Amino acid sequence: MLTIQDIATFCKKKGFIYASAEIYGGLAGFFDYGPLGVELKNNIKNNWWKTFVQDREDVVGIDGSIITNPMVWKASGHVDSFADILIECKKCRFRTKANQLIEEILNMDVGGLQPKAIDKIIKENRISCPKCKGNFGPSLKFNLMFKTGIGPVEPITSYLRPETAQLIFTNFKLVAENSRLKLPFGIAQIGKAYRNEISPRDFLFRVREFEQMEIEFFTHPEKYDDCPFTKEVQNMKINLLTAEMQEKGKKEAKQTTIKELITKNIANKWHAYWLAISYKWFTDLGINPKNLRLREHSQKELAHYASACFDIDYKYPFGWKELLGNADRKQFDLQQHIQFSKKDLSLFDEETKQKIIPYVASEPSLGVDRTFLTFLIDAYNDDKKRGNIVLKLHPNLAPIKAGIFPLVNKLDKEAKNIFNDLKKDFTCQFDKSGSIGRRYARADEIGIPYCITVDFDSPKKKDVTIRDRDTTKQIRVKIKDLKEIFKKLINQEIKFEKAGKLIK
Ligand SMILES: [Zn+2]
Repeated sequence: MLTIQDIATFCKKKGFIYASAEIYGGLAGFFDYGPLGVELKNNIKNNWWKTFVQDREDVVGIDGSIITNPMVWKASGHVDSFADILIECKKCRFRTKANQLIEEILNMDVGGLQPKAIDKIIKENRISCPKCKGNFGPSLKFNLMFKTGIGPVEPITSYLRPETAQLIFTNFKLVAENSRLKLPFGIAQIGKAYRNEISPRDFLFRVREFEQMEIEFFTHPEKYDDCPFTKEVQNMKINLLTAEMQEKGKKEAKQTTIKELITKNIANKWHAYWLAISYKWFTDLGINPKNLRLREHSQKELAHYASACFDIDYKYPFGWKELLGNADRKQFDLQQHIQFSKKDLSLFDEETKQKIIPYVASEPSLGVDRTFLTFLIDAYNDDKKRGNIVLKLHPNLAPIKAGIFPLVNKLDKEAKNIFNDLKKDFTCQFDKSGSIGRRYARADEIGIPYCITVDFDSPKKKDVTIRDRDTTKQIRVKIKDLKEIFKKLINQEIKFEKAGKLIK
């Protein structure tokens, strides 16, 4: 069984992820991306941005600041209620998140409970410190925002943003007007966010500094169930775990279609549509559908702002956990900002000639780092036959698209020419050390989808061999056609076997 520690070790060894400032012992909940990690991360972000912003006519992007006017966090509710409940062992000072520990020990969801109620549960169930069996002291509410002071004298207190969403709401009216957007439309953002987690854990899964990719999708308040794209997604298959199924104690999701989500009134049409295309984004980029499910939140799990919420969960080595969340926030955030800023954030609706406060029908939100971890785990294959790891990342996400290998040193010049030409368009790696088998293995381990070998026939016949990472099949292609063929392979527009002459 693959463990999260295996992945962390692999990531360090290959230059994907390091503990932040490891020479000083690192810092819990903070990580640095290495040479391959930064490429994979950028590929994930670029792919998401292209799919959900650039390729669409109804979504535009922003990039808000990390530190902003603290009133934003007052209005959003984060100053008063973005908190976890901390418990500390009286004997060994071990600290943990109360709900996490209770959930693990009693298999009971205590989200939303106040410290007094938590203390009661701990006492009644005689929960003791998992490290030393000592007793816990009274639980404490602990705000998860990182505080910072702005300005040199009598600094004003603000916070590192705990989510990117609020900057979308505060800029909402300007963006709508500048971009001449008509409802329904979305505003997207990719950026860093910070949460002072009590117990960061599971490598990149729960960290203190992370990056989010979020969209707030606004509709007319009466038209949240009026999605023109339902037909495109209704037959899509998903694994679904409803709130009702969970109340009945069911743990296994059942396969169904997006259509059922809508006809059974589980989700409204815009919400269902965004869930569908988010789910599809993962499977299109190679995530095994068996490892995905859509889970509906129960009423008691819902955050203060949401009227319905779904997670796309992934089956991690440490269990099914949230990969993407999508809440139906209604008018909560805009109403709060109207109240606190005393500004008019309504839009004029041409059709009804009314001023309206738009409704957030859908809010797909996911962590870049968690998504990165998910793609890595799903791609990780310990191939016993080959004797090495094969990282089966989708070619679009692979940090390096091509490995270029001269079979022997005297073919360097020919291989270098190909490398120099190809690297104008693709990230490439030139590797001439060790046996060809050893070079293939190294390429497999970092997920290079295609390796190009220049051999003794190449100078005469003007052709090279391309080897496919996942099948190890090889084809022969003319050097003059290489770039064109390569582009099609990376974009998955052509089957590998059809891209050249298959070598038997
Ligand atoms: Zn203890």
